[in-house]
Amino acid sequence: MRVAIVGGTGFIGRALIHYLLEQGDQVVLFSRSADVYRTVPDFKHVQLVSWPPQREAVSLAEMEAVVNLAGETINQRWNSKAKKRILSSRVETTRHLIGLIKEQNLNPKVLINASAVGYYGTSVEDVFTEESGPGADFLAEVTQAWEKEADQAAHYGVRVAKMRLGVVLGHKGGALEKMLLPYRLFVGGTLGSGQQWVSWVHIRDVARAIAFAMVNSDIQGPVNVTAPHPVRMTTFGQTVAKVLGRPHWLPAPGFALKLLLGEMSDLILKGQCVKPDKLLEAGFKFQFPHLEEALRDLV
Ligand code: NDP
Repeated sequence: MRVAIVGGTGFIGRALIHYLLEQGDQVVLFSRSADVYRTVPDFKHVQLVSWPPQREAVSLAEMEAVVNLAGETINQRWNSKAKKRILSSRVETTRHLIGLIKEQNLNPKVLINASAVGYYGTSVEDVFTEESGPGADFLAEVTQAWEKEADQAAHYGVRVAKMRLGVVLGHKGGALEKMLLPYRLFVGGTLGSGQQWVSWVHIRDVARAIAFAMVNSDIQGPVNVTAPHPVRMTTFGQTVAKVLGRPHWLPAPGFALKLLLGEMSDLILKGQCVKPDKLLEAGFKFQFPHLEEALRDLV
């Protein structure tokens, strides 16, 4: 299959490209810095195109699937300027993509658009499925605006799958490295109350779920991309400690993390229990359904 990826130079994009090439797919990668990435080994076998693309740059009409992962990192202090960039980078890139589809410069069968479980807001008790409504915090607002933009592609006959990603665990980048560090330094322990949920997912399963959604026409609308067995933060920490063979003892209290990280601390101190009903009903098999196996593969 011929696949175009926007925002594919990042953490998830690299893993996805690796997986798609393994499967024999052809990849066109859009990047704002295409020239910089041309010499990077990860992208040796993809066609790199500057984003936004010039009409004559590449024959985009042949792309069967488009994956949109682009967005400014949320791993920064959320002051008002950062919040604007986090929102507008996602909405505007997606809008531009829809413009290319509308003008038939791109003619895909399916648009796989990233989103996040932050859509649901946070809760210690509730269990969220694709049927659940949105939350009311900053990330819930961002993901709603982002998904609304992606939905526009359906007006042009494109199937749209909005992949609500959980906390993606992988080797290079993402949340895991930061979560492992205190354990490696023998000072790991529960973050905040420990009762908050972590709806995690192994990066290989993210790549597999995206590839599954590309070819499976039952998959459309919101799709939770989280392992079927989310855990509470205490269990997450204890499992990390077990896998690394390090102690789990020094708690990091919520107020300290709040001082350190500002509003972004919500990502760690509050969570949500999310179930991947749509993927499971469609027959998707997680390679890493349980946290311990996922961590053993990654650390
Ligand atoms: P990365 O930050 O690693 O990569 C995102 C890509 O988006 C970059 O490679 C970059 O591509 C592009 N980008 C960065 N800033 C901007 C900007 N201001 N405007 C337009 N494009 C920009 O993200 P991940 O790979 O970790 O995640 C991919 C998507 O999935 C993100 O949108 C993220 O919010 C979402 N997600 C990720 C989760 C995770 O655990 N990692 C969890 C939930 C959701 P280039 O510079 O080449 O143009």
